[in-house]
Amino acid sequence: MGDKRRAVIVDTTAFIAGFDAFDTYDEVYSIPEIERELTRGSMAKTRLKMAIRSGRLKIREPTSNAIREAERASKEMGDFQSLSEADRKIIALAIQLRDEGYEPRIITDDFSIQNVAKKLSIEYASITTHGIKYHLKWMLYCPACRKIYPPDYKFENCENCGTKLKRKPLSKTLICGLKGQNKKEFGKLKLSEGGDESGL
Ligand SMILES: [Zn+2]
Repeated sequence: MGDKRRAVIVDTTAFIAGFDAFDTYDEVYSIPEIERELTRGSMAKTRLKMAIRSGRLKIREPTSNAIREAERASKEMGDFQSLSEADRKIIALAIQLRDEGYEPRIITDDFSIQNVAKKLSIEYASITTHGIKYHLKWMLYCPACRKIYPPDYKFENCENCGTKLKRKPLSKTLICGLKGQNKKEFGKLKLSEGGDESGL
């Protein structure tokens, strides 16, 4: 713990899982893709818009250097296949903020992002450990061949093609009232969200 400025970098899964930029004193950052990935009209999208409009959340495009470094690390960890372009940009933005002197922490529920962050010695947390009390239902799936697995499946890789599995929140129920937020929120999840961002 130094006197460094702290920054949190949030991805789509964090917003779907209930992340609220007004719940933290740290500076909050994300990438341009997050706006497109959240379903229009959802509470997550409303929360995102309010955070951006108020200046609480800053959207930044990471530099190509930082993106290259994120790609290198994800290849070394064998996570490249499981990461969308947006996922890699989240990691890249954390690298960039660290280079700018921040103490960055990624808030994500994505296994592969967490894995690569660990490799880069970048702090990470899932929304559940960030102090937000939701019960999440997860969908576990293969981003390459799209096979869907039971949420308690105990292997990390797809039995068909060996790709590292991804998970995403399917629905959540608020179990502890926070500032009168809605009780339930169901994101309309596109299965393509995780793996199909290559055509940007
Ligand atoms: Zn597969």
